[in-house]
Amino acid sequence: MTVEGTGSPGGRNERSHTKLIATLGPATADREVMRKLFIEGIDVCRLNFSHGSLQDHSASIDMVRDLNREMGVNVAILADLQGPKLRVGEIEGGGMELHEGQSLRLVTQPAGARENGLHVNCGSLPGDVEAGEEVLLDDGKIMLRVLETDGAASVLARVVHGGLIRSGKGINLPSTRLSVPSLTEKDRRDAAFALERGVDWLALSFVRSPEDILALRKVVSDAGNRAWIVAKIEKPQALEHIDRIIEVSDAVMVARGDLGVEVDFHRVPMIQKRIVDKCIRAATPVIIATQMMESMIENYRPTRAEATDVANAVLDGADALMLSGETAVGRYPDTVVGNMQRIIDWTEAHGVQSCGEGEMPRGAGPGKAGASSLPDSICYGAVQMARQNGARAIVTFTHSGYTAVRISSHRPSADIFAFTMNRRLLPLLSMVWGVRAFYLESSGQIEDYVNRSMQFLRERDLAGPGDTVVHVGSIPLQEHGKTNMLKLSYLEE
Ligand code: PEP
Repeated sequence: MTVEGTGSPGGRNERSHTKLIATLGPATADREVMRKLFIEGIDVCRLNFSHGSLQDHSASIDMVRDLNREMGVNVAILADLQGPKLRVGEIEGGGMELHEGQSLRLVTQPAGARENGLHVNCGSLPGDVEAGEEVLLDDGKIMLRVLETDGAASVLARVVHGGLIRSGKGINLPSTRLSVPSLTEKDRRDAAFALERGVDWLALSFVRSPEDILALRKVVSDAGNRAWIVAKIEKPQALEHIDRIIEVSDAVMVARGDLGVEVDFHRVPMIQKRIVDKCIRAATPVIIATQMMESMIENYRPTRAEATDVANAVLDGADALMLSGETAVGRYPDTVVGNMQRIIDWTEAHGVQSCGEGEMPRGAGPGKAGASSLPDSICYGAVQMARQNGARAIVTFTHSGYTAVRISSHRPSADIFAFTMNRRLLPLLSMVWGVRAFYLESSGQIEDYVNRSMQFLRERDLAGPGDTVVHVGSIPLQEHGKTNMLKLSYLEE
């Protein structure tokens, strides 16, 4: 009856609500390693377009698709575009030592980087910076302060905190309003490639405004594609527009790597919690990323602080947690996935992060009467009813995924099953908290669809005698987007 489901092939991940994203790289290039990642519990594979060639990414896409076919699952593919990442250019000999108090010229032409000069890959920098602003190099390990700019080709700065700077290291300018576009030429080329290869999700880096997301959305629709878009929050300017960015994005990533350099690190924990909360209220899936299990790039087990960080992100209610270098270049790519999944499982089993008896559903209830108030009321009502009746499962029939995401945003303690005739949705929903999606054919009658879904749950032991199941859908079934049905079923003993 059904053909495929979301996420990884089960095992430990079968019932975890919080999803797991693994970044691919040289450490996962081997098919057997990738297979282990699938078995250990990944739901989404991230291709990082800041690294690797298009051939590398193409090979990764083929491998994920092959394994999906072989295992009958739908691990999603997320293409993460580099965005306007500022970098130091080539340095003669590969690196140079910067000393506190020394003056240094940042130049936009490689030829200008003679002695005491550093090439930067941003032509608009001299026109954008102002005296007194900070320039951070290599994840903020080195700090410069701008003394003066000629407004055209070079910036004179003083080294505040020195150190060894190497070619290609990143540059952050937390207080500068950069004029570079959020979607660079490289991003456009990479997006075209990723869309042509049919990736499920696109992520945009260094988002500053909602318009950045809308610009990428236009690229996607101009390509006749419907990939969903993740806004990476890593700039202070994005925090100024966070509500609107959340509203226009399909998901949001708290990209703590650059965020923790662009804003003072002591602010990062509360920014994370605030964004997760806002996203849950807006029913926009949210990802926590970077340094979650960083020490496992080298070590076979995480630090206690990392285990606690992962558990806290689960308790915050994040939809997905992301591994970066840990899986892309780490020594233990499958072990780190297994370890993270164990922390997720234990925390979910022993923490309180879903709405059980006596707790109000999270997320926002239906708003003012309008286009979405009907489906939103049904979804909210479904979660309330599931809670009151101790239901085992909430089943939604969905074409766009809207009701599945909406129900998930209330973080019910009942399992969430999304049945769809839209195959494209399966990997998209792999990113969403608690949702397990399955392809299910229909005869076109809602009663038939309800019966088939119940048969499916029974056959897989996902519901049985004595269980209550809540169904959400639309009558007539074909009317996409007109969610207007809520049904409670009790399975006789
Ligand atoms: C981050 O900065 O946290 C992040 C996820 O982005 P990237 O890995 O592209 O630097």
